[in-house]
Amino acid sequence: MNPRREPISSVNETIGETPLVHVHAAPDDVPVYTKLESFNPGASIKDRIGKYMLERMLERGDIEPGGTIIEPTAGNTGIGIAIAAGQLDLEAVFVVPERFSVEKQQLMRALGADVINTPSEEGMGYAIDRAHELAAELDNAAVPQQFSNPLNTETHRETTAPEIDDALDGEIGAVVVGCGTGGTLMGLAEYFLEHDPDTHIVAVEPEGSAYREFFGEDVDHEAYKTEGIGTHDIETNDLFDPELIDAIETVPDRETHEEMSRLAAEEGHLVASSSAANSVAARAVAQRIDRGDLDVPYDSVVTIFPDSAERYLSKGVYRSYEEWES
Ligand code: PMP
Repeated sequence: MNPRREPISSVNETIGETPLVHVHAAPDDVPVYTKLESFNPGASIKDRIGKYMLERMLERGDIEPGGTIIEPTAGNTGIGIAIAAGQLDLEAVFVVPERFSVEKQQLMRALGADVINTPSEEGMGYAIDRAHELAAELDNAAVPQQFSNPLNTETHRETTAPEIDDALDGEIGAVVVGCGTGGTLMGLAEYFLEHDPDTHIVAVEPEGSAYREFFGEDVDHEAYKTEGIGTHDIETNDLFDPELIDAIETVPDRETHEEMSRLAAEEGHLVASSSAANSVAARAVAQRIDRGDLDVPYDSVVTIFPDSAERYLSKGVYRSYEEWES
């Protein structure tokens, strides 16, 4: 968001500085704040890593201007990278498992990128391997690989976290954020734990996802409709450091679906499923603090709304639970 009333030279400069807003359905004494990442030009949190990773990779010489960025992505990262690549004289190619939203793939193509689909049943691990194979066939190509690139985490430690810190004068008790790659939560955790090691850090995942396997728990892997968070293969989640986590909140799709509708109807937030899961989990943590069941350095909870519902209308996110497709 550009807080200045002055013209600026490129969309890349409008990335970040998003608003932090109260979630109203929180206990009076334990406010929940959420960062509205749909205010970015590509309408998601992933614009941040697109810009940050490509700028650092160009600086380091990982890729030269005119080169090709190849990324395995569920979509939002593709849009973020496509926007940044277009402004930084780079080509972009994305490897996307079929099941992800058609809207996102159309937007990536509109931004000038190529999209290659892989079979949904092969999962994200296969898309990652395909991206590396394609990069090996080209000169001057690089795979940022958001699932293992420390620049993903660094983006949030250097941009998202200080913005939240500033807005709340450092008074953050708990950070409750859904994990896809885990980059957002890890970046926030690293920053806030350095400022106060007692900050309570909670990962959020849909029911059926396997992040709990990091803690040695057995998980019944099941398909879930919530998009953008969760994992079925923790081997691909290189950035996730269980040592930084105090708890995992598991949110069933049904609760997420109800919260998506509630956030729109009662609070004016046209946000998607990962935002709603974050909201359910953040409110639960706030209630625990309010009841005195959880001690945190400040009575406040921070979460993230990573993107907007418009990107998923074709999947029926605002229709009945049964009509919402996975
Ligand atoms: N929500 C949505 C809609 C996303 O696309 C993503 C990224 N996969 C996330 C949440 C999770 O962010 P991260 O990868 O930083 O864990």
